[in-house]
This record gives sequence, C-alpha cells and structure tokens, in this order.
Amino acid sequence: MENAATRLAEVRGNIARMCKPARRSPEDVTLIAVSKTHGPEAITPLIEAGQRVFGENRVQEAQGKWPALREAHPDIALHLIGQLQSNKAEEAVALFDMIHSLDRPSLLTALAKAMDKAGRQVPCFVQVNIGDEAQKGGCGIADLPKFLAEVRATPIPLAGLMCIPPADTEAAPFFAFLAKLAADNGVTGLSMGMSGDYETAVQLGATHVRVGTALFGSRG
Ligand SMILES: *Cc1c(COP(=O)(O)O)cnc(C)c1O
Repeated sequence: MENAATRLAEVRGNIARMCKPARRSPEDVTLIAVSKTHGPEAITPLIEAGQRVFGENRVQEAQGKWPALREAHPDIALHLIGQLQSNKAEEAVALFDMIHSLDRPSLLTALAKAMDKAGRQVPCFVQVNIGDEAQKGGCGIADLPKFLAEVRATPIPLAGLMCIPPADTEAAPFFAFLAKLAADNGVTGLSMGMSGDYETAVQLGATHVRVGTALFGSRG
C-alpha cells in the first residue's frame, strides 16, 4: 500500500497535468481532502505530508475529531461538503471555514442568522441539483437565478456553485453545464469533481475538487 505522501503527490500531480492543456495554474485549484469516516490515524499522515484543506460531510462527525487535530495545526481549513440541516447552522458556522451545500431559502436564513450571531462570515457555495434528480439535494436549475439573488442580498460571501453529478453516467456534460450556469450568473468558483472524475473537472474549470478515496483509500 502506498503511503499518504505518495497518494497526495499523485493527486496533486494529476491536477497539475490537467491544468496544463486547460492553460490554468495549479494554484487556482484547491484540493479538498475528504476525510469523512476516517480517523486521526489516517488524517495525520496527510497533514504531515503538507495537506491543509479537509472536507467532512457531517457536522457531528467533524465536531468529534477536528478540534484536537486543529489544535496541533491551526492553519487547517475545514470545508462542509454534505447536506446541512437548518438546526445545525450555528454548529456548522462555528466549525467550518467554507460550506458547499447552501441550497434553499430556509437554510440561507438560518446561516445568515448564525453568521451574524457569531460575527463570522463563512463563504458558501450554492449547491445545484445539476442532474435534476428527485432524491438529491441542491437548488433546482430553474430556481438558481432567484436563489443567487437572495444569497447576494445577505452579507454571506458567495464562493461559487457546487454539484454532484448523477452516479454511473459520464460526469463531463454536468461539469460543463455547471460551468455555464456559473458564467451566466456571474459566479467564479466551481466545486466539482471527486476521486473518479476530478481530472475531468479540472479540465472543465473546477476551482475546488473534493477527493476522498484517491487520498485515503476506500471507506470500507
Ligand atoms: C464523499 C464525498 C466526496 C468524495 O468522494 P470520493 O469518491 O471518495 O473522492 C466528494 N464530495 C461529496 C459531497 C462527498 O460526500
């Protein structure tokens, strides 16, 4: 089994390789190491190898393991990539440096209130239901312009658009569509791409890729 440093170098190398033909700079792509389900023993080697941006999908799980890890490494940034319930907004605002799952007016209201109370504005990506899937979170495509206007009417910094394409299909058309929606709506950040498709996402303009398995191995 390769070690964490080797896997990290591989993923970073792949990102740099895909940046080249797209005439992009690797520094413009933030690699988020998705550490959900993994404990400190798996996370620490990646921190020691230089990784500083991590992603979690559940508030409670992140609360359990990150405060101790961050005490030793205060320069770590933590991103929430999973769906967020409005009643967890305060906890999320206290713990995370970026939120990728802002997708509805009720959550916007809860986050704006929590950020105001905490005196801390956490940049948010608006998640788009890019495949129009009934069971998936994300703002509907037709509702996006109106929702973006609502976000822009708050002090919350708009980080960009985020998507999770439908499983078991080619991701590229969905990434290209998200990039078009961002351009049409004057948004610059694009959170897209996971272990199986982050190279494609980088080619199509991803500014943030969320990579778990390729860095940590399978979640079992
Ligand atoms: C788990 C997860 C990822 C990472 O998935 P891998 O396939 O392990 O890279 C990315 N984004 C979200 C929203 C996730 O929940």
